[in-house]
Amino acid sequence: MQIIARQALLPDGWAQNVALTVKDGLITGVATATAPPGTAMPVDTLLPGMSNLHSHAFQRGFAGLTEERGETRDSFWTWREMMYRFALQLDPEAMQAMAELAYVEMIEAGFTRVGEFHYLHHAPDGQPYEDPAEMSARIFAAAEATGLSLTHLPVFYARGGFGPMQAGAGQRRFLHAPNAFLRLIERCDTLASRAGDVVGYAPHSLRAASAEDLATLTDALPGRRVHIHIAEQMREVEDSLAFSGQRPVDWLFDHVEVTPDWCLIHATHLSETEVTRIAASGAVAGLCPLTEANLGDGIFPGRAFLEVGGRFGIGTDSNVRIGLAGELRALEYSQRLGLRERNVMTTVPGSTGAQLFSAALTGGAQALGAPDPVIAVGAPADLVALDDPFALGSDGAQMLDRWIFGRDIRVGGVWVRGAHLVQDGRHVARDGIAARYAQAVWDVLAR
Ligand SMILES: [Zn+2]
Repeated sequence: MQIIARQALLPDGWAQNVALTVKDGLITGVATATAPPGTAMPVDTLLPGMSNLHSHAFQRGFAGLTEERGETRDSFWTWREMMYRFALQLDPEAMQAMAELAYVEMIEAGFTRVGEFHYLHHAPDGQPYEDPAEMSARIFAAAEATGLSLTHLPVFYARGGFGPMQAGAGQRRFLHAPNAFLRLIERCDTLASRAGDVVGYAPHSLRAASAEDLATLTDALPGRRVHIHIAEQMREVEDSLAFSGQRPVDWLFDHVEVTPDWCLIHATHLSETEVTRIAASGAVAGLCPLTEANLGDGIFPGRAFLEVGGRFGIGTDSNVRIGLAGELRALEYSQRLGLRERNVMTTVPGSTGAQLFSAALTGGAQALGAPDPVIAVGAPADLVALDDPFALGSDGAQMLDRWIFGRDIRVGGVWVRGAHLVQDGRHVARDGIAARYAQAVWDVLAR
């Protein structure tokens, strides 16, 4: 297969009239300014595919259904009760149906890999399924059905809060002892059968895993990607201070060796020292701006983090609204609102859209243990084509600015490992998957 792009983002920067050859899922040729054969597929602007570093796929099933005020002021914590009630009703079939639609929408948005932070492990009564990896298998099946590359991150969850606080009834489907969790990881390794599948792990948060748990897991699972929710909510920071006298990120860095294999999800509430410690470690900050706004988490200290060389990627988290341009826009706008400035999430003069995209591209791939996200010979053919309906001939950086901040540009085509999954703006399997999703949501809401 050959693709000819008016312009493409190559490792050295933008190039015009780029002809790509793709074979067996890999890019086998990149030539510029040549006359391609008439069979080559023409596209306007070609980008490497983006990693979505943080998703809870099943939460797609109640997107838009938690936007009603209760008797008291609502918060992350009242939302979490509603999320637990929904989660308790999901069977494996519904899990897969919801993940499939979420993954279709991710690919349509321009994501070619997801980091699935997966904690719904057991049956509704809290007992393991006959296959303890039943729910993980559904995530792998959804990724395969939609063609999305997967970094599976089974979640370790052992307690209900800081200190020896017992888990609540709403958390019974999430829980493992360390040994059972290590067996789950082994089983997930056998499920990761496609080229490019990765299995990492995720201590859910410092609320859910103790210092001893973290030591056991990091000793037993060296070399894996490690993700953790941290400092998302002020109450979490206050509980951490009450428990240990330390803020969550400071506590983590004092108890665990945080390396570039780590991804700190949210990291919203940071002291200056914590900003510097994360940046210096080379770990990635996993920012989920649309979910963080939806849940009222707070504003990540973006400028301070970039000024000390911090790395970040983006995630769709609760999947309340799946978008790639939308996440980058929300990230930049949250900074503008907080600082009353413009063009904040960049440290160099020039296009903010281009800087946002490139930073999230490399940070996301690092966080998910993905191959280098480049359009180059030998790389997987993970490609996103932007269409410009007005054919204004914008240069590459301006195309990214128009896509992220304006509304003209759309994702017309997406390839994952060479498979042409989005054609004319739609995933090729969307219709059947959307029908199964609708039925699954009806069934769950009826329970
Ligand atoms: Zn999350």
